[in-house]
Amino acid sequence: MIPGPFTYHRPASIEEAVGLLVSLGEESRPLAGGQSLIPMMKLRMATPEHLVDLGGVAGLKGIDVEPGGIRIGAAVTQAQVIGSALIADRLPILRDAALQIADPQVRTRGTIGGNVANGDPGNDMPAVMQCLGASYVLAGPSGERSVAARDFYLGPYFTLLEPGELLVAVRIPLPSAGHGQAYEKLKRKIGDYATAAAAVILSATAGRIATASIALTNVAPTPLLAEEAARLVVGTSLDAATLKAASAAAKAIADPAADGRGTAEYRREMAGVMVARALVKAFGRVKGA
Ligand SMILES: Cc1cc2nc3c(=O)[nH]c(=O)nc-3n(C[C@H](O)[C@H](O)[C@H](O)COP(=O)(O)OP(=O)(O)OC[C@H]3O[C@@H](n4cnc5c(N)ncnc54)[C@H](O)[C@@H]3O)c2cc1C
Repeated sequence: MIPGPFTYHRPASIEEAVGLLVSLGEESRPLAGGQSLIPMMKLRMATPEHLVDLGGVAGLKGIDVEPGGIRIGAAVTQAQVIGSALIADRLPILRDAALQIADPQVRTRGTIGGNVANGDPGNDMPAVMQCLGASYVLAGPSGERSVAARDFYLGPYFTLLEPGELLVAVRIPLPSAGHGQAYEKLKRKIGDYATAAAAVILSATAGRIATASIALTNVAPTPLLAEEAARLVVGTSLDAATLKAASAAAKAIADPAADGRGTAEYRREMAGVMVARALVKAFGRVKGA
């Protein structure tokens, strides 16, 4: 199928883009990498009358260190995340996750902003952002506001983004040196969304886990923060019984739908397996514990 007709707009600034989205109203949509939106338009599942292309908007690019963390512009591509020495050094979980998204062609076009703003539970970055305690900077007609990634997702394709608002950047607090990070994703083949996936960040002292954060991808209508699973591993040396208990706690909050990737029961089970694998990998990556 080919998309329905639309008018193409190419603003040069955030203010101009927000102004267009406000004046064109509900029938307008931002266009970032187009790797989710264009397929939806081809399937006629999205029929925007106006596309506001963010490709020429200044202020949406760059990966920068700022006090307390890293700021990633919404238009930074997944390929740029993979190529960033700063990300590889300080936030390797982002690189791990980006490398498991689709294929190199999609990653060259697809952006961080599009991935987290989309609201598709199959997108990988939202759970990673929840795990990291990231916040999203949203620009709208009344200025900027910041929303925690943990509060942003309300349902499939339903987020806290208001009409006329643009996600301009993601702010990520930097875990202190020594944290272990991992993203484990089960998928049927290259280019597929997760059957289930888990993000883990933890710290440890003297061989025991001191802090932990765990989040899940594609096993519920939204990404899930697995708080009980994280609580259960803190204070332990990640013995077999703890791994089993953390997996069970993650499975208890998962609510996957049956689809081509498997039955709901299978996908819930895989959520537990991904949590166990990500915990083991992250624990093995803790430095100096
Ligand atoms: C074959 C294939 C396989 C894929 N596999 C995966 C996968 O395994 N994991 C995964 O996470 N993703 C996957 N994707 C999706 C891909 O990562 C997309 O790039 C991403 O979901 C959307 O990013 P985009 O920049 O392409 O956004 P677009 O497609 O341009 O936009 C997506 C949505 O977000 C909105 N939007 C975009 N930018 C902004 C912004 N700055 N502010 C407000 N709203 C905005 C758009 O209006 C639209 O509604 C796959 C895509 C394809 C084609």
